[in-house]
Amino acid sequence: MNAIGAELDRAAVGALADSFRGQLVGRSDPDYDDHRKIWNASIDRRPTLIARCAGVADVIAAVRFAREQGLLVAVRSGGHSYPGLSICDAGIVIDLGQMKGIRVDPEARTARAQAGVVLGEMDRETQAFGLAVPAGIVPTTGLAGLTLGGGVGWLQRKHGLTIDQLVRVDMVTAEGEFVTATADENADLFWGVRGGGGNFGIVTEFEFRLNPTGPMVFAGPVMWPMEDSPQVLRFYREWIQEVPDELTTIVTFRRVLPLPPIPEELHGRHVIVVGCCYAGPFEDGERVLKPLRDFGAPLADGCAPMPFVAHQAALNPAFPHGWWYYIRSCNLAELNDEVIDTLADHGQRIVSPVTVFSIYQLGGAVARAGEDEAAFTGRDAGHLLNIIGITRTGDGFDAEREWARGLWSALEPHHQNVYVNFLMEEGEERIRQAYGAEKYDRLKALKRTYDPGNFFRLNQNITPD
Ligand SMILES: Cc1cc2nc3c(=O)[nH]c(=O)nc-3n(C[C@H](O)[C@H](O)[C@H](O)COP(=O)(O)OP(=O)(O)OC[C@H]3O[C@@H](n4cnc5c(N)ncnc54)[C@H](O)[C@@H]3O)c2cc1C
Repeated sequence: MNAIGAELDRAAVGALADSFRGQLVGRSDPDYDDHRKIWNASIDRRPTLIARCAGVADVIAAVRFAREQGLLVAVRSGGHSYPGLSICDAGIVIDLGQMKGIRVDPEARTARAQAGVVLGEMDRETQAFGLAVPAGIVPTTGLAGLTLGGGVGWLQRKHGLTIDQLVRVDMVTAEGEFVTATADENADLFWGVRGGGGNFGIVTEFEFRLNPTGPMVFAGPVMWPMEDSPQVLRFYREWIQEVPDELTTIVTFRRVLPLPPIPEELHGRHVIVVGCCYAGPFEDGERVLKPLRDFGAPLADGCAPMPFVAHQAALNPAFPHGWWYYIRSCNLAELNDEVIDTLADHGQRIVSPVTVFSIYQLGGAVARAGEDEAAFTGRDAGHLLNIIGITRTGDGFDAEREWARGLWSALEPHHQNVYVNFLMEEGEERIRQAYGAEKYDRLKALKRTYDPGNFFRLNQNITPD
């Protein structure tokens, strides 16, 4: 506390501490470094104060304290922002990571989750009842940031984006007021938080509809040598025209990770992998996936009936905390020959054993929801590409970043818009591209209503002016 007091108004910090139920962490507290670390180790920032909130009252108190003290505010839930928008130099981090409450109502098929929940925790609770919220593909990712951007993942073609199953949010505004938003109450705000990120306030709790899922699904990866990727992708683009919405696939280019279930002779090899998740009866999944699994000469085929949570956990080792990450992303209308050849060419030039790029298959339920229903934009895109330059330490990171930029630039003629949760800090024009001009203007008007002073600015920022 002394360290905190030395840099801030001591009396004000004392008053905050008196009633704070969570923990206030300052620069010379022994666990300061643990709490300021985020998932992406290439981001190293030193806030003045970390307010680890235990509940809504702490969030309100932290917001009011930050306002009074004129502090820069970062809001953190899962800490998985690629550009590190949940941590700041100087200023205060309002950290919701301890707020882990989840309540599933299996009869009503709804679930409430506090903002600190990560995807694997949500799946653990919902899958106990054979239910799920469609969300992302790595269980350590924060539910809050993911939902506020939209939420793409393995169940999207069957059940839509994460926001398509969202029914309510509780929020704390820039004034420190508590509000609820649903389709009927503060409907404008509810529209904005479904894609508009953390621009309008701090969400403390989400409520979702749940859909029957698994708990067993037919899922897994099919892997070919990367030299075969032009043929695999040409086959794939035709094949996905016919597949049902139960199936969502993600194509990945990478070098094989040295993990025990994978034969040692494949470790480090450049490969193309089609990851599959069939969210329906698994006998149907086996039939639907047969043409893919029969194509060419796969090096490995891990498709099998498996628990949905096991499939979800499969990518954990590829994205651990503490590695260095840089992302570039864009949506693509189609995998035409030029796109395929560019991907294949850059795939062969992957140097880092942990760098990766992935193409999410869109369509299905994602495309069926109306484009105007929420701030999220790009439902008509065919594919979402994310290119992630990764190194285990800072060594070689600059080169991976340049490689990622190179692939992204080579595809520029084919870019559609971009998913806001896969942006680095790329400037206002890219944020406008993410939403399109019309929605961007509507989001700006909403920002003027809920946060005219741009108190919440460490996000893909929609400025009020
Ligand atoms: C390994 C990995 C895998 C991913 N996979 C997917 C995927 O499959 N699908 C997908 O859609 N996205 C995916 N993402 C992107 C992910 O959705 C974003 O990085 C998201 O911001 C992470 O949420 P978080 O709570 O962990 O973020 P944080 O780093 O805590 O915050 C990110 C942003 O959200 C704001 N924010 C956080 N919590 C709140 C809150 N409670 N109220 C208001 N604003 C808040 C922060 O201020 C910040 O601007 C992935 C990211 C990573 C790192």
